[in-house]
Amino acid sequence: MLLDLDGVLYVEGEPLPGATAAVEQLRAAGLELRFVTNTTASSRATTLRRLRTLGFELEEDELVTPAALARRHCADRGHRTVALIMNEDVKQDFAGLEESDDEADAVIMGDLGEQFGFPILNRAFRLVMDGAELVALQKNRFWLTADGLSLDAGPFVAAVEYATGKDAYVVGKPSAGFFDTILADLGVERSDVAMVGDDVETDIGGALDAGIAAVLVRTGKYREDFVRDSGIEPTATIDSIVDLPELLGS
Ligand SMILES: [Mg+2]
Repeated sequence: MLLDLDGVLYVEGEPLPGATAAVEQLRAAGLELRFVTNTTASSRATTLRRLRTLGFELEEDELVTPAALARRHCADRGHRTVALIMNEDVKQDFAGLEESDDEADAVIMGDLGEQFGFPILNRAFRLVMDGAELVALQKNRFWLTADGLSLDAGPFVAAVEYATGKDAYVVGKPSAGFFDTILADLGVERSDVAMVGDDVETDIGGALDAGIAAVLVRTGKYREDFVRDSGIEPTATIDSIVDLPELLGS
């Protein structure tokens, strides 16, 4: 069972009512869990600490983040010097690579929130024009913050793609590589796996494309019209993760 974090387990830094108990119920039913997030505003260590503080019990290797997979991608491609467009905390996940703003084998874009602006995007643009690979930790369009829906990293990645005419290598959901890596690690049949998420495109669409079942929750960024407009049909839709154990009959 793959569980998205933001919008499924917690919203705006608070656990959703009943979410910690629901996760414990899934564990008690003997399900193997992976906590899979596109959150690129925090390092893996910080995300892990936050989840534990909120009352979720998990092991470090149960948490899958785009940064960890991007680090592996850099190793596979032989990238050594990278431009890291992300906050300082997430940069921890790229230990061992040399960071440079002038010359890079890859430009890796995460989330910078309000710090995104012309100078940073223009630097990324120039590096990619000079031959660096454009790597996006994720390409989500928007997310839900305390004061409403807000731009995620995707629109900024799209700006660099548009200017350079090159497509980013997208690491996070909904990319096939993201799901393939997790499934290989779990070592189970696709028919035995389900993804639970609040984002109809990245969580649900990505999982269905990867050949696994997808359960949409009506929490977080869920909106009925987003689902309708997407044309994506989740395997099941439930009000919140609290209803998941019952859906699974566990
Ligand atoms: Mg989410």
